Amino acid sequence: MLPLVALVGRPNVGKSTLFNALTRSRDALVHDQPGVTRDRHYGVCRPEGQRTFAVVDTGGIAGESEHLVEGLLGATARQARAAAAEADLVLFIVDGREGASALDDEILAWLRKTARPTMLVINKTDGIDTQAALNDFARYGFSEVVAISSAHRQGIDELIDEVIGRL
Ligand code: GDP
Ligand code: MG
Repeated sequence: MLPLVALVGRPNVGKSTLFNALTRSRDALVHDQPGVTRDRHYGVCRPEGQRTFAVVDTGGIAGESEHLVEGLLGATARQARAAAAEADLVLFIVDGREGASALDDEILAWLRKTARPTMLVINKTDGIDTQAALNDFARYGFSEVVAISSAHRQGIDELIDEVIGRL
């Protein structure tokens, strides 16, 4: 089985954009393995000459303070959380433009309970002061942080290298 990397974060931070950047195709898994049930949340990242890994976009996770029923208790969220809890590596995605929010704090608290290896990924750092964004999230205490722009494909190769180094 391929190692599984889960993309976790509050809505709108760019999880799906990153998922597409990593897998290049929404239907990678379906495409490669005919007969596999279509599930747009799963894909495969095949970096050239490097280790292949599976990616899950846990789009269903929202915080307790927001969309309670659809968020933490809904069936989609349960599946998403189960995927994250079983992942070999979690990428905790945050929005470098908006900075740390209460919902980020809440998701991080939940992630710590899962005790899965977790990397902080600051997205949307195109056209902003990356250092300021790094400073804003410093209180989360991650030793290694990757700043990226999924939409502009900046930092994606570096992110892939970091991910493979952790798998
Ligand atoms: P999700 O809810 O976490 O899956 O977020 P989406 O991938 O749907 O992205 C939410 C919005 O942020 C969309 O309008 C994206 O185009 C935008 N977005 C995603 N990544 C970036 C980025 O790196 N830079 C900028 N400026 N916008 C981004
Ligand atoms: Mg999404």
